[in-house]
Amino acid sequence: MKAEIITSGTELLLGEVVDTNTPFLARELAAIGINVYHHTTVGDNSARLLEAIEQAENRADIVIISGGLGPTEDDITKNILAKHLNVDLTLDKDSLNKVSRRYQTEKLSKGNYQQAQILEGSIPLKNEIGMAAGIYIEKEEHTYVLLPGVPSEFEQMVTGQLIPLLTQNTTENNILRSRNLNFYGLPEAKVAEELADLIHYQTNPTVAIYAKDGIIDVRITASGQTENECTKMLDEMEKRILKQLDQHFISYNSTRIQDVIFEHLASKNENLALIEVNTDGEVIDSLAHENAHKEVFKGGLYFTKYVNVANYYNLETIAENKKEQNEKMANKILEEFQSDYGLAVTGWGENQRSINPMPEQAFISIAKVDGEVFTREIDLTKRTYFARWLLALKVSDMLRRFLLELPQLEEEY
Ligand code: ATP
Ligand code: MG
Repeated sequence: MKAEIITSGTELLLGEVVDTNTPFLARELAAIGINVYHHTTVGDNSARLLEAIEQAENRADIVIISGGLGPTEDDITKNILAKHLNVDLTLDKDSLNKVSRRYQTEKLSKGNYQQAQILEGSIPLKNEIGMAAGIYIEKEEHTYVLLPGVPSEFEQMVTGQLIPLLTQNTTENNILRSRNLNFYGLPEAKVAEELADLIHYQTNPTVAIYAKDGIIDVRITASGQTENECTKMLDEMEKRILKQLDQHFISYNSTRIQDVIFEHLASKNENLALIEVNTDGEVIDSLAHENAHKEVFKGGLYFTKYVNVANYYNLETIAENKKEQNEKMANKILEEFQSDYGLAVTGWGENQRSINPMPEQAFISIAKVDGEVFTREIDLTKRTYFARWLLALKVSDMLRRFLLELPQLEEEY
């Protein structure tokens, strides 16, 4: 299957705005095995936009246009496509409600109605951020997709709506199915190296790597005649990938490490409390932001300095033995919250190499209600940039490994 991407906007042609939508979409399409051979950019001009659409129809099955869904006169893509396909425009109720709520009025301007219009017979693509819905329409031999130009809206619509829709839909008696495997604890380049053969010589299923927020996603996409055939291909490829990267596998479908922890604890009816010192509360933050996990995460305490926690718990004020003090804290928090596990994370010193203030060393201890305590020292000086959320991720992964009784990573990442 072939797709062609058309971006519209005179500002793009003039170089005033750099087109980020095309590369984003191109990567997403490549990852599900859809080929893209041409990118086109046109200004906000009806004749040239139409010309670009007709040209794309000659070379591709799917024509995807970005930009021009807004409320102004120069937002023309919907009108052009409707005329070209000879279909009427109709109001999308959800979009209209959204626009009325947003402007708190029943009296909408012409532009607002324009924003809420879709092509008759099309599937509206929900816009989680902005006003205008996207459009997905199949007509004769082709699929047409209209997406908003604003990059944040564009990107969420592509990943949230378009890619799942394209993956689901049957074309040429073929179905596409994908599976995401998430890994933690090794650099993207290392993953690319390990999977190089699978990525380069494989056309079905395809394998693509994405790195985001410290996690590496490997997406496998299979194209086949039946569900079973795809599943078999995905299983087989998954096996080959895990053979290389098994130690680092976390979960499927972008499940966060924290969620793996919570799901595990929930399944065992167990819970966790945490104490954090001198790390800006980032670990608590990363564990606490999902309300759904209140049963499992009982809560936490954050202290800006060790001396404060020492006073609070009557510990030695000068931590001679940092490891021992940290283990005591893990036990104290477990007692205080009457939880099954107590986690203590303490940052020490100041990392001189870091471009942002960071401790140079951290201790993490996990105490279990039966008395067992696990402790690791983390060296934070290896990086010049070590954001706090990366520390939180690292702590989460250690906790995950401890709870699931998996070996800890040998090499510190
Ligand atoms: P709006 O409702 O804001 O009019 P729209 O869907 O009509 O949205 P455009 O008017 O084409 O989209 O563009 C909206 C904003 O997004 C503009 O600031 C534009 O410069 C920017 N933009 C449009 N296309 C791209 C692109 N391909 N890459 C990056 N930015 C883009
Ligand atoms: Mg616009």
